[in-house]
Amino acid sequence: MFAALALTISLAVAPKPHIVWQPIPYGPRRKAEMAAYAERHYGIHSWRLHPKVIVEHYTGSNSFSAAWNTFAANRPDPELGELPGTCAHFIVGRDGTIHQLVRLNVMCRHTVGLNYIAIGIEHVGTSDAEILHDPAQIRASLELTAWLVGRFHIRICNVIGHNESLSSPYHRELYKPWAHQTHADWKHADMRIYRAKLRALLRADRQR
Ligand SMILES: [Zn+2]
Repeated sequence: MFAALALTISLAVAPKPHIVWQPIPYGPRRKAEMAAYAERHYGIHSWRLHPKVIVEHYTGSNSFSAAWNTFAANRPDPELGELPGTCAHFIVGRDGTIHQLVRLNVMCRHTVGLNYIAIGIEHVGTSDAEILHDPAQIRASLELTAWLVGRFHIRICNVIGHNESLSSPYHRELYKPWAHQTHADWKHADMRIYRAKLRALLRADRQR
């Protein structure tokens, strides 16, 4: 009985935070575009996501609706003219509101090299530091990530910043000119702080 209790405690996962469902259009046509993208870039003909990685991003602007509209628009990228357009599964607002845009079993195009395996979380903001020092936003971000880590059994080392994408063991990219492409959002030094905060939150959840 005690063994069973101990097991229950060790498997306790972070509670699901309040999430506002604000879906972008992602019907059969966009799914087919995603599957074709996954075929070209990863050799996987599927739009279905089985996440093992979480990638943290920031939008580069201070407007939730601008980010939502960009992701909903499904515009081809300027370099290859490929579809689907970029998107992320979540956008965390400055006030700590968690918006979900796409179901978690569907791939989104947010990180070159990792879209086949990663959930994308955007934060409204223009720097890592801005988000780390915004109490409402960072709390919501950590609560969301902690819940996803438990739900999908994701290792903390696989909660990464976009700027860490090239060092992920899951990184793969068949289109050679993009094999070393990444973005500046969420650098390693800031993600070390983020992961330390995440571990502390998960410890606190286990002790409740
Ligand atoms: Zn990014």
